[in-house]
Amino acid sequence: MPDDKLPTPERVLVVAAHPDDIEFGAAGTIARWIDAGTRVRYLIATRGDKGSDDPDADIAALVELRDREQRAAAAEIGVEAVDFLDEPDGQVVASLELRERATRAIRAFRPEIVMTHDPTVLFVNNEWVNHPDHRAVGQATVDAVFPTARDPLNFRDHLEAGLGPWKVAELFLWSTNEANQIVDIGATLDAKVAALGHHASQFRAFDDIARWVRRRSEELGERAGYRAAEGFRRVTLAR
Ligand SMILES: [Zn+2]
Repeated sequence: MPDDKLPTPERVLVVAAHPDDIEFGAAGTIARWIDAGTRVRYLIATRGDKGSDDPDADIAALVELRDREQRAAAAEIGVEAVDFLDEPDGQVVASLELRERATRAIRAFRPEIVMTHDPTVLFVNNEWVNHPDHRAVGQATVDAVFPTARDPLNFRDHLEAGLGPWKVAELFLWSTNEANQIVDIGATLDAKVAALGHHASQFRAFDDIARWVRRRSEELGERAGYRAAEGFRRVTLAR
């Protein structure tokens, strides 16, 4: 067994901006949890309607395709449900409305762990600019976790719909510059790459992407003594 001190929660909610974000950031860890019996749901803010470099792209067809690709990627590792919020790709803001929808999902599923983008990161490892949608979704989700979902007077109509307050125990944030949890994904790296491979519309040469993902995972793992790893900023909210 890996000695990375990864807890085994009953339920994990993963909130992302776009189809394929979760596969790049967290699918190895999620696959490990599902293998251990954890129930996992995805909540994805957009259906990636700007994810084409063809100015004449058929947007309805693109959205339909990306929806299908994301569901196949989730099914690849046993995720039980994928919900989309249909925010406009490229224009997501951390609005109160988005926070309400994330809060609703948290109160409905009652996850011990919520995973999302690290909203504080503007430059990822000084290698690239973090997409504004990633920052917005990360911010709305963290705000939904604390204190919104916890406190019953926030969005009181949820109570009337049978959704009580819920205290999330931990946040796992990907694409972070401050990883304090390195997860051993040696056993699930192949599953991560297989899940990513379902996003065929996004890759001209998937073999190159797969090699890059494997190399990055292996480099991170090497530092911790694992064959491959994913890194997260892990924030403990309740003990
Ligand atoms: Zn993205």
